[in-house]
Amino acid sequence: MGSPVTGLALSLTARQASDFELLANGGFAPLQGFMGSDDWRSTCEDMRLTSGEIWSIPITLATDLECSPGDVVELSAPNGKQLGRLTVQEVFERDVEKEAELVYRTTDQDHPGVAAIRAEGNRCVAGRTEADALPDHDEAFMRRYLTPAESKAAFEERGWRRIVAFQTRNPIHRAHEYLTKAALEICDGLYIHPLIGDTKKGDIPADVRMRCYEVLMEKYYHPDHVMLGINPGKMHYAGPREAVLHAIIRRNYGCTHFIVGRDHAGVGDYYGTYDAQRIFDDIDIAELGITPLFFEHTFWCNDCEGMGSTKTCPHPQESHLFLSGTKVREMLGRGEKPPHEFSREEVAQILIDAYKEESTTDE
Ligand SMILES: [Zn+2]
Repeated sequence: MGSPVTGLALSLTARQASDFELLANGGFAPLQGFMGSDDWRSTCEDMRLTSGEIWSIPITLATDLECSPGDVVELSAPNGKQLGRLTVQEVFERDVEKEAELVYRTTDQDHPGVAAIRAEGNRCVAGRTEADALPDHDEAFMRRYLTPAESKAAFEERGWRRIVAFQTRNPIHRAHEYLTKAALEICDGLYIHPLIGDTKKGDIPADVRMRCYEVLMEKYYHPDHVMLGINPGKMHYAGPREAVLHAIIRRNYGCTHFIVGRDHAGVGDYYGTYDAQRIFDDIDIAELGITPLFFEHTFWCNDCEGMGSTKTCPHPQESHLFLSGTKVREMLGRGEKPPHEFSREEVAQILIDAYKEESTTDE
């Protein structure tokens, strides 16, 4: 290692620190650093690295830092914590508009992922990263923090061979509880793997989400068949391309199956309902190393007297309990619990308490 010769230093943004963390802990394997121009182009155009492996979203470090190949740049987190260093291999200009079109399938500035890469800019510094430390997270997350090596060891210790991962960035209500359990019926273990990196404004605070997951696990899942970890990744809202990246990350954490719902990792109307499932049609699943499991929209049906989906329930829409996200937020904000067929009491209570807390802090 040795001390840096050049004295170059860069303070990473929260989004960059999130990428650094997954590079450092193995979540982005086989990547070992920020991409250069060849991997950037090949990822955008062919959804593969130049080495041939499937990779769906560029992992680049956009910065104005003056540096040249061979330089060593010391990297720190937004809070100043020293993380490690990058050895510069290349400084290049990416075509952000091309990345938007090919990866995000839109150049609309209202798309949060597109807006984010435009704000970062074209100029990128590529190179292998080396970590001395990982970024800090809230205590609620650190309690559940496992690196890919640790989660693999934990699965093995439990004797799980088929492990299904569930990606989420929201509290789990009955609909998602149902589909995780449906997936668990054909696997040995369920890995609830919420994303805690940078999401968009208006998303529920991550510590509140963790309390929701924990109470649900304690009360409604079998302790021998569920684990909760965290994914320090950030959201791109790239829909289909991101579904593939989410699967790759979970493969690296030791999972064999991955739940892909309708409109996975989408935002607004940028992607078709099934685009994030169809993208896997053109992927060799054995090569990918993790099997996607596709799910329909699920709901409580009064006639079935249980959870179901358009695949399993023959009844008309009037029989289904449907509440929009807006409606649920309004109810919780008023201190009102949604029906227990929609949300578990305990989860609703945590959310109501969080809304109350938030409104007292606002005053
Ligand atoms: Zn029904």
